[in-house]
Amino acid sequence: TQLSFLDLYERDNCLRSGSFGTVYTCHHQLHTDITYAVKILDRRKLKPKDDAAVFREVSILKLLKDLPHVVRLIDFFVEPETFYMVQVYAAGGDVFDRLAARSHYTEKDARDLAKILLETIAAIHEKNIVHRDLKPENLLLKSATGDTSILLADFGFARTVPEKGCITRCGTPAFVAPEILLGLPYNISVDLWSIGCLLYMLIGGY
Ligand code: ADP
Ligand code: MG
Repeated sequence: TQLSFLDLYERDNCLRSGSFGTVYTCHHQLHTDITYAVKILDRRKLKPKDDAAVFREVSILKLLKDLPHVVRLIDFFVEPETFYMVQVYAAGGDVFDRLAARSHYTEKDARDLAKILLETIAAIHEKNIVHRDLKPENLLLKSATGDTSILLADFGFARTVPEKGCITRCGTPAFVAPEILLGLPYNISVDLWSIGCLLYMLIGGY
């Protein structure tokens, strides 16, 4: 439709501010009792390639909309200077902050989280999609109380794996698989390396 984000939603508090965008809580003007999260990206700061990547992120989120532990995209607005990605709000924040607050996860909590994460990534890999940036900041928690009910987020580096494998060097240093650093073609298995690092960090607290 011709309606803009601000015609329909009201922006509330800032949750996280990054170099290209900021995540806020927001609510629909007609359903004020439901809190959503909105990732707002400044298109003027994005290179053409990164601008196009946002459309890929959105189309991947649409493909994964039925997975219960993937953050759900509610609305997407393309405006001349701004993208707005309205998502389900994860009231528990992200696992990085939770880990900092708890110092480390118990073995049982780490195991429960791992089971959900591995089942979710298996379903994503079944569609031949690789996430490429699995780390505690990109795992959200549904509520402020539970430590294991996660929503996988940030599909900014995700893509369909081509037949010859991926070659783009991307990810986050502490979690990146060796084949990516070596410049070799790689596939969905790089996500499993990152999950190994992530679980080590949960249990060890470092
Ligand atoms: P970026 O590409 O900037 O890393 P993310 O999608 O990972 O974007 O969002 C950045 C941070 O904002 C997350 O690590 C998390 O702390 C917070 N965040 C993002 N989406 C949500 C959400 N739906 N609910 C709650 N917090 C969120
Ligand atoms: Mg992120």
